[in-house]
Amino acid sequence: LGPTVTVGEILVEIMATTVGSGFLEPQSLIGPYPSGAPAIFIDQVAWMGGSAGIIASVGSDDFGMLNIERLRRDGVDVSAISIIDDKPTGSAFVRYRPDGVRDFVFNIAHSAAGDIRMTETARTLVERAGHVHIMGSAFAIPGVAEVLDYAIKTVKRRGGSVSFDPNIRKELLDAERGRTLLDEIIAVTDLLLPSGEELLAAAGETDEAAAVTKLLDAGVNEIVLKRGRDGSSFFGRDGKRADCPAFIVDEVDPTGAGDCFGATYLTCRRMGMEPERALLLANASGARNVTRQGPMEGVSSLANLEAFITATTTENA
Ligand code: ADP
Repeated sequence: LGPTVTVGEILVEIMATTVGSGFLEPQSLIGPYPSGAPAIFIDQVAWMGGSAGIIASVGSDDFGMLNIERLRRDGVDVSAISIIDDKPTGSAFVRYRPDGVRDFVFNIAHSAAGDIRMTETARTLVERAGHVHIMGSAFAIPGVAEVLDYAIKTVKRRGGSVSFDPNIRKELLDAERGRTLLDEIIAVTDLLLPSGEELLAAAGETDEAAAVTKLLDAGVNEIVLKRGRDGSSFFGRDGKRADCPAFIVDEVDPTGAGDCFGATYLTCRRMGMEPERALLLANASGARNVTRQGPMEGVSSLANLEAFITATTTENA
């Protein structure tokens, strides 16, 4: 029906090379790596062989060009990435603590990423799209609501579908506005891709089963729950459910696992695979991503995933 399109922040990530807390003294860094949840997601769609495009904005600097060139090389339609002359590309500095918690310093809202709006090239991309993927992380950018509104209406009118990863950064959105937005988006979502806490927050429930029932009743067709080191679960209509244990891997860098997981599940389903097969491949995609340093460096092709599944055991294998 047309490409999978997403909207949101593109940035570079620069990582501390040592484990510890924060950036209160000079230290060794590695990067820049191409990043931004929507960028990782759409790159993984292209790696799976899906047609893919992104609406975003970067500065006219090396950080912006690094991202555009990477996405272009991997097969993503970059025609709707605007280049903003007077603002730098967004960036995130990250350091891992010993327990895996991440400390961030972000420059997104005041960077070129904050300038996303409905351009002519964005309109052209949306009018060809068969699917729109919504990222909660992008809600902090003012122009994104207008672009999403147009994208959802246009894609639905053409008989296309919508997926939603509610990775909302609570500190960037006030609670009341967050609730209204969530309800509006869930009402148009076909595939929901939350992680544990996000499932409960999306439904406004405290119990997993009640949250699943409520969201399916609200019109969501499929819920795929990400459980980190505990794997993932699929919930569909008529009580359909599948669980997939996690693959056992050495986690080097967890950033991007959920995005690779979601992009793989969605692309497999759009290619006509059954939910169980899509879930297994998505699980492999998330696990494979965490074994590589850099948010977008662990993206996988279908052949990579099949080889990984053959070579790797799962928790209860
Ligand atoms: P998010 O990044 O959105 O919080 P998760 O951390 O749950 O998402 O990761 C998405 C998926 O990637 C998980 O459901 C799981 O299948 C896989 N995954 C993530 N971390 C690991 C890990 N340490 N070991 C094995 N699989 C993992």
